[in-house]
Amino acid sequence: MSQRQAEGKALRAPRGSGMQAKGWIQEAALRMLLNNLDPEVAERPEDLVVYGGIGKAARNWEAFEAIYRTLTELEKDETMLVQSGKPVGVFKSHPDAPRVLMANSNLVPAWADWDHFHTLDQKGLIMFGQMTAGSWIYIGSQGIVQGTFETFAECARQHFGGTLKGTLTVTAGLGGMGGAQPLAVTLNGGVVIAVEADRSRIRRRLETRYLDRMAETLEEAIALAREAKASEKALSIGLPGNAAEILPRMVERGFIPEIVTDQTSAHDPLNGYLPRGFSLEEAAAMRTEDPKRLTALARQSIADHVRAMLEIKSRGAVAFDYGNNIRQVAWDEGVENAFDFPGFVPAYIRPQFCEGKGPFRWVALSGDPEDIYRTDEVILREFCDNERLCHWIRMAREKIAFQGLPSRICWLGYGERARFGKIINGMVARGELKAPIVIGRDHLDSGSVASPNRETEGMKDGSDAVADWPILNALINAVGGASWVSVHHGGGVGMGYSIHAGMVIVADGTDAAEKRLERVLTTDPGMGVIRHADAGYEKAIQTAREKGVRLPMVDS
Ligand code: NAD
Repeated sequence: MSQRQAEGKALRAPRGSGMQAKGWIQEAALRMLLNNLDPEVAERPEDLVVYGGIGKAARNWEAFEAIYRTLTELEKDETMLVQSGKPVGVFKSHPDAPRVLMANSNLVPAWADWDHFHTLDQKGLIMFGQMTAGSWIYIGSQGIVQGTFETFAECARQHFGGTLKGTLTVTAGLGGMGGAQPLAVTLNGGVVIAVEADRSRIRRRLETRYLDRMAETLEEAIALAREAKASEKALSIGLPGNAAEILPRMVERGFIPEIVTDQTSAHDPLNGYLPRGFSLEEAAAMRTEDPKRLTALARQSIADHVRAMLEIKSRGAVAFDYGNNIRQVAWDEGVENAFDFPGFVPAYIRPQFCEGKGPFRWVALSGDPEDIYRTDEVILREFCDNERLCHWIRMAREKIAFQGLPSRICWLGYGERARFGKIINGMVARGELKAPIVIGRDHLDSGSVASPNRETEGMKDGSDAVADWPILNALINAVGGASWVSVHHGGGVGMGYSIHAGMVIVADGTDAAEKRLERVLTTDPGMGVIRHADAGYEKAIQTAREKGVRLPMVDS
């Protein structure tokens, strides 16, 4: 246990324009590591767990302290290497190179399953980095809320005439990412019942205004939902309980919503999914005493949960998998038609990926919300022809509370990201912002992930499982001068099911940063364009032609 942990002090990123580190990039990495573990941001900071089951920011407290110390000592021409949340070396590099390179949770493919991972984890040799947890660019539920909003908006466009008014969505899981669901549904005008096994998560979403209210029983939730639906009012209802019990009960009662999905951490049956009939405390005890049995019970419950989703679908609901590999677990447990409903990426998101669009985010290191509001104004001015984007920015400003360092998210594509990055850097240079800005993204992006049950499900050319793309993404972003770059395995969907890369770059107002931003914010979404063009998506080929992205094999 570290001194810091022994003192029980909560972590919080320093604010303002002073620095502890020897340069703004190192300082940014330090502040973002601390911000990931800020109690306002992280789900279980006392265990270094940020979100998504056991997605961590550092392997253990000793590793955390060593990262902290190394970042304060790191020179402007050095690079620290982080192996699964532990700093393992520092090399001389050069000022334009990344200051940190990370590899998290990677296992040789034949060993890449949860059993091997947990054995290594117990020996202290590995850490689950999830996506943005281990790469220090998690910003809380606000980081996913636009993606979730866009997913439900597209679902509304495809199935309900463009709005969720008068519809009910049933989902589960109000954790770090899943907590964005109720707000995303109500922003689209709909009603949602979100089943959550942990009351403290429901309370947290109520406090942060992501959720409107809590019902004590299924009966109460149904009555509230019926009333709101009938009067076409948007309403989100948190329901304490276990999804593997509640969904079958809904089916028995013939209570069928218009949409059904799920964001429990089903990707990690041992740590992320509560088996039916268990309290949180009972599951915690069994997790150490008999982890194999707990995993087996969770997997059976997941299978029943998916059976109920399939039944709800067969009675007329729109069903989709929300990126937690729940179908795969159920299929492994013998649910042969588990893949009868699609994943959210092929169903709603892929056309955006073809244009290099994805969840772009930025964070004000000053800690001053005014800095974010100034950048909002720039989006509204510079991208005024994009009505959907401007609508989002206005709505985010009004409805979304900051968590930790003030930050913003919006989906920008190829060309737009480099343009915006340069503008931000200019604002820092002219002193219009009080400190540098950190620019990053989720690993769930257009050209940074191979995940056959999620981002690359059902690719046009069948290349779903080809993982060369995220590796190329990390390499080209490192060459271009991203501030920190990471390659992870297992994020979103669990061990064995994905490989993905992260990228963060700091706009510190210097000329050198401007060149790096131009390069990296071009190559990063550019990878999305070429990945989808290579797979034969006409929209991506067209984007490449219009924007001058060179494709040697497609153009010849
Ligand atoms: P989390 O671990 O923070 O939260 C999961 C929640 O599910 C917890 O609050 C837990 O109490 C609840 N839960 C577990 N078992 C339950 C059960 N049987 N019934 C009801 N509630 C139960 O995870 P998160 O960060 O919210 O992510 C959720 C899932 O979504 C993960 O699998 C993650 O990989 C995936 N994910 C999806 C996206 C996306 O954009 N779709 C993005 C990131 C992550």
